[in-house]
Amino acid sequence: MAVHEIQAKTMLSHHTSPDPWFGLKYTFNIYRGCQHRCIYCDSRSLCYGIDDFDDILVKVNAIERLADELPRKRVVGLVGTGSMSDPYGPIEAEYGLARRALEVVLRHRYPLHLITKSDLVLRDTDLLARIAERAAYVSFTVTTADDELAARLEPGAPSPTRRYAAMAALARAGVTVGVTMMPILPMIEDTLENVTAVVESAVAAGATYVLPGFGMTLRNRQRDYYYAQLDRLFPGLRARYERRYGERYDCSCPNTAQLQAHFDGLVAQHGLQTRVPPYVAPSPGQQLSLL
Ligand code: SF4
Repeated sequence: MAVHEIQAKTMLSHHTSPDPWFGLKYTFNIYRGCQHRCIYCDSRSLCYGIDDFDDILVKVNAIERLADELPRKRVVGLVGTGSMSDPYGPIEAEYGLARRALEVVLRHRYPLHLITKSDLVLRDTDLLARIAERAAYVSFTVTTADDELAARLEPGAPSPTRRYAAMAALARAGVTVGVTMMPILPMIEDTLENVTAVVESAVAAGATYVLPGFGMTLRNRQRDYYYAQLDRLFPGLRARYERRYGERYDCSCPNTAQLQAHFDGLVAQHGLQTRVPPYVAPSPGQQLSLL
């Protein structure tokens, strides 16, 4: 793995209307490439133009760009990071850019939705707690609650046990936390026991929402990489994928209906939400009382 420093032309992507799953109005990524090396990562797809995803590109002017672009937005909405590259990969311990990005978000009074697999996020609990006075959601991606399986599927990421411990600590600090339970890998993670374990561990850690995805997407270069990893980790499984999915992009779990029904029961039992609640800006009167 190599680290390269680059200059970003722009940082914030804008969504015309908040996306229905994550509630995001704006997104940014500080890093390109990711050290967590999840075998299923969609960011390896050709369309993203990242030739060697295991190399890390650090946008060293990210904070200057963000500090310039964010205050020029007319509409306040949920700012997200973590969809293309984890902002709290090991490289962040060295660069500290995610922390400085949170300072910008706090300074300009924007709500935040951060997605990560790393307990390094705990380093920034102080800032997240202050952003949470407006709205801060931290979603931990957990596809299996089994540490041993996760170590094979997500070899560079902290274990699910560490993620749940971080979730609980953030919840205690007043941050809204939840789980992005996606992807659930077909024929590997698609058991009722796994869904139960992910959801019940989330509840125990203070999660208020779990976003499910019973299946995965596969395309071009990312599919090649994933199948090579299946050959290494689960000999024989590639042939079952090829028979079932061919060249399809959407690869839902064979037992999706059963998993969904089971998940619905867990959600009802524990009073969980299944989407990040849309952000509603405070009315002018409320804003004054916040000052
Ligand atoms: S943490 Fe996310 S961005 Fe990083 S390798 Fe895993 S799936 Fe990809």
